[in-house]
Amino acid sequence: MTTLTKTLELKLVEPNAHKRRKLRETREAYQQALHDAFDAGCTTQTEANDVVVNYKLSGYAKNALKKYVPQLTTTYNAGELHDAHPVRFTNEGLRLDHKPENAIEWYVKIPHHEDYHLWMPAQPNPEQRDWLEALNAGDATMGESRLFERDGTWYLHVTATRDAEGGSEVSDEERTPIGVDIGEASLVTVCHRDDHGCPTAPELWADEGKTVRRLRKTYFTATRRLQTRGSERIAESFGDDLWNQIDDVFHRVTREVVDYAESVKNPVLVLEDLTYIRESMDYGEYMNRRLHGWGFAKLHAQIRYKAVEKGIPVKTVNPRNTSKECHACGEVGYRPQQATFKCTNDACWMGEYQADVNGAVNIADRYLSGESRFREHENDDDSAEDGGRLTAPQDSQADATKQETLGTYAS
Ligand SMILES: [Zn+2]
Repeated sequence: MTTLTKTLELKLVEPNAHKRRKLRETREAYQQALHDAFDAGCTTQTEANDVVVNYKLSGYAKNALKKYVPQLTTTYNAGELHDAHPVRFTNEGLRLDHKPENAIEWYVKIPHHEDYHLWMPAQPNPEQRDWLEALNAGDATMGESRLFERDGTWYLHVTATRDAEGGSEVSDEERTPIGVDIGEASLVTVCHRDDHGCPTAPELWADEGKTVRRLRKTYFTATRRLQTRGSERIAESFGDDLWNQIDDVFHRVTREVVDYAESVKNPVLVLEDLTYIRESMDYGEYMNRRLHGWGFAKLHAQIRYKAVEKGIPVKTVNPRNTSKECHACGEVGYRPQQATFKCTNDACWMGEYQADVNGAVNIADRYLSGESRFREHENDDDSAEDGGRLTAPQDSQADATKQETLGTYAS
């Protein structure tokens, strides 16, 4: 078992004037305490404590200073202080909250001074989403954090650590790709091919799909009703409770997906590349997945960090047509019902197949090339699809703004 450490960057999203003032107050108090303790030549925590104790700062900032100043004066032997020191907080100084129903999904609690803190919306680096999911679930540990302003924007750098299992020395070709399909009817579907190339051991989380759909529907109808009655507070806590229930389902399912992978020899989990999803889908499919985009990203992030904990590699592939192609012949078919895929190739043996399993096998099959197994056999006539794709929205702004911001954090 090894430990991974990373610095996560969060951008604070447009703090209002009040919150900006509070952030500047924290920074000014911190800088003064730092300079005073430094100028007093404090070389121990106790000496530093005597200086910083009088400042209007949170215990997290004071404790960080008690550790930091003796380092500056002894270890680094710093002659003078530079102007711009970030405000440091000791571990657990920050708190993170996830509100997937909001346009800005992540919130961070920043200590101001004793008993006073600020909840602020924050935009993480999207590539660090697995780390945030791990922190939020308590599967990663938060270390020291630093608050600073750059070109008028406030940022937080948060150190985080989590466990990882060293991967085995197996070449890419020797691995067994497990396709992971995230969908509507079945929340997640996994499948892989056996030694003979036959799809085997499909597993579907269909009941969980139903549960999540029900919870989400309850959320939208009930919170809207509560809001029109003016019960914002009740709507919010009721909403939080429902999203927590959805998150519990997600955590259980993603744990089971990783368990499935562990039961396969030399596994690699194959997911659809979310960054492709916009370009590669027709309008209906795009809008459908756009609505559930948060669920996609959340499930992916949870699978990623749980796979790393077990030393299982994860790879992403182009999702284009994974739900429309026949896994046996590559022909584009259709769905007579939500759960059924029908191949339209007369020469193909397959006929009908479980649609989500077909998708999962297609995803697995793209493991080595990143593309469809059949792509090279196709002529380049994609025109029908390209026509369909032209109607896809060019910008996600329109529907992003429609999402209501329900979170109202008081500070
Ligand atoms: Zn076929």
